[in-house]
Amino acid sequence: MFYIRIIVAFLIALSSLDAFAESAQVVKKVYLKKEKGVYFLCADFDEKVSFVPRIHTLPNGVKVLLSFNREVAAPKAKRTSHNIIKGYFFEKFSPSSLMFVVALKENVTFVSKKYDKHSVKIGFSVSEKRVIVVDAGHGGRDPGTKGVSGDYEKNVALVTAIELRNALMKSGKYRVVLTRDGDFFSSLDDRKEKIDAARADFLISIHTDSNNDKNLRGMSIYTLPNLDRVKNSTAAGDFFAYYRRLSQSKKFSESLLGYVPNACRIKNRPCRNGDLKILKADMPAVLIELGCISNKIDDELLHSQSFRAKTIAAIKYALDEFFEKGRK
Ligand SMILES: [Zn+2]
Repeated sequence: MFYIRIIVAFLIALSSLDAFAESAQVVKKVYLKKEKGVYFLCADFDEKVSFVPRIHTLPNGVKVLLSFNREVAAPKAKRTSHNIIKGYFFEKFSPSSLMFVVALKENVTFVSKKYDKHSVKIGFSVSEKRVIVVDAGHGGRDPGTKGVSGDYEKNVALVTAIELRNALMKSGKYRVVLTRDGDFFSSLDDRKEKIDAARADFLISIHTDSNNDKNLRGMSIYTLPNLDRVKNSTAAGDFFAYYRRLSQSKKFSESLLGYVPNACRIKNRPCRNGDLKILKADMPAVLIELGCISNKIDDELLHSQSFRAKTIAAIKYALDEFFEKGRK
């Protein structure tokens, strides 16, 4: 019995040695380089093999089927992250072919391919448009607060979010993702999913305020608090990244409030902080309370398209400034 086990183990070892000899590691290295404004993801292969590539473009990436002249081994699954590439990996498609799969970020598109005997170069162009997520608060069965006029926060938030989206897109500098574009309920988790998927440069959540003091009016802006006041702070991510995003968010808030006339800013602390789940994103994020719909003047103003246009212009100036002057 003992000898049989040894023989079996020996045969298994032999067959795996065989497989190793048959299929070789052919991918030497994968790297990114930039040539004349175009990024190339390059894969270099062993010079002893030749291959025929066939490229397929995907909505969010590229697939290259590489048919080799001999049996090959798939390199260990490798994923990397870069500012244009979400990741890549090789998968064995048949004994002599590999599928090279590259997933791209939203603002990146495939432009060209180059092959030579031992390498594949996939070219991408990166759109300089910044991606902004605009989140209209509440919606559907969650109306938010009720204004003096009887209208609800969810409606003011939505109309402002859509107008903000249109203004940002019109500038040609931004691409905008809305978390909701109609009067429907969207859970916080659904919103978070959309926000994370957008891999955006900035998140703006739009709400309106309501107060017992009916005289209180004006805009206030929320950012996250310091990390010691954040519940479930592991979700807030890396310490340094958190504070970097927080300081960027505060900088934007101050800049935006600077574009808003005194009377339209809330008197007491317009820059606020709160442990708000929506703001826990992998990007700078603010929640803007456009005004207090419990106040007659604010409620009327927020229902006026020309006033909303001024607020939207202020948000756009602040975003332009944020991206142009650097975010440090
Ligand atoms: Zn709200």
